[in-house]
Amino acid sequence: MRWPRITTVMLLTTVSMHTSLAQDKPAAKNVKAVRFGKLWDGKGKVLTNAIVMVEANKIRAITTDASAIPAGAETIDLSKYTGLPGLIDVHTHMTFYTDETPGVPLLKQMANPVPAVGVFLARKGAMRTLEAGVTTVRDLGADQYMDIAMRDLINRGEMIGPRMFVCGYGLYITATPFRKEGTLPAGGIADGVPEVLRAVRQQIAAGADVIKMYGSTGTDDDVSGFETYTFEEMKAAVDTAHQFGKKIAIHSYGPDGARDAVRAGADSIEHATDMDDATIREMAKRGTFYVPTIDHNRYYIDNGDKIGYAPGYKERLQAFIPRNLETARKAHKAGVKFAMGSDAIYTMFGENTRELGWFVKAGMTPEQALRTATTNAAELLGKEKELGAVAAGYLADLVAVEGDPLTDINVVLNHVKWVMKDGAVVVDRRGSPAR
Ligand SMILES: [Zn+2]
Repeated sequence: MRWPRITTVMLLTTVSMHTSLAQDKPAAKNVKAVRFGKLWDGKGKVLTNAIVMVEANKIRAITTDASAIPAGAETIDLSKYTGLPGLIDVHTHMTFYTDETPGVPLLKQMANPVPAVGVFLARKGAMRTLEAGVTTVRDLGADQYMDIAMRDLINRGEMIGPRMFVCGYGLYITATPFRKEGTLPAGGIADGVPEVLRAVRQQIAAGADVIKMYGSTGTDDDVSGFETYTFEEMKAAVDTAHQFGKKIAIHSYGPDGARDAVRAGADSIEHATDMDDATIREMAKRGTFYVPTIDHNRYYIDNGDKIGYAPGYKERLQAFIPRNLETARKAHKAGVKFAMGSDAIYTMFGENTRELGWFVKAGMTPEQALRTATTNAAELLGKEKELGAVAAGYLADLVAVEGDPLTDINVVLNHVKWVMKDGAVVVDRRGSPAR
């Protein structure tokens, strides 16, 4: 595989496709014509024998007319496959990547990482995320601004990975250790309204795209959901984030934190098991996104020994999952908007889209599930005019899968064959067995 690198020169020297199509089809350098057997565009349309014209990092046009392909364009034949927009995972922790060094529990590996080493190691998880068809992530919590470094390296073409929207430190109260191991700098601790204001402003000053707040206990194998912040503290965080044009995600494992987070005006609620009917109704009314992150609990059950959880974790997580799923089912029925978030961390990268299987179990059609990782997720990012759909003017993020994801969501989970991000091919597994 070649590592593509998008240079500024490429972006600046391109000619508008519309101009070249309107005239007598001049030789088109830097234009790719990607042919799909079927294309789901993210907005509800399915095209047969679709050709997506890509110029530099953007989609210029979609057509079924092969004669519209300009001379000199590179044709990529994916007519055996179904095309989709690049997928979006709105809840990751890319810089908490771990390998499986024998005998060293993953939690131990995370103690006091040197930031440069942490970012360097995260390349593998970033690549696995792309291989799952995920070309954009919202990363919700990192230490020492590793996420900001990683985002910028990816944007500069120095690192291959999904486009990242990052939060820096998530805000948390004293006595809620985000990591149980090690003694990391306490960048996100904030108690009381003035400290909350300072911490939010600090993340924005550091370059955060989005704000994250831990509104309850609960992380890893701890599934307790005690509300940590007061309504006033949440409201202060929300208002300050919004004042600077940033969205805010509030974590709550239980219903109390979720209730106050919704009323405070959070843009998305993460995890949130056992939400009461009034809160669910309020979310539907306000358009608050729900990111249930059901599948990460499954990942913890499958990998708890390697991670280094204390005995008893399986029982706790196994009891939590059905409540998580039931809350998702109720919220979907009530018309709440969903976005797909995996909460991928440690070795979970590459399993990002398994969450979609749970969404179908919660009552969504495969298309509704796909929307949570495309148009809905793009809306939550505030990027609905650039991401989440295959449409003219959008960033050229495309995924080819083998099979029909609109009848079987597992096609997306297991049969990603090819991925383009920003107009560059980043994954090509045609000819490889199913992942
Ligand atoms: Zn998380």
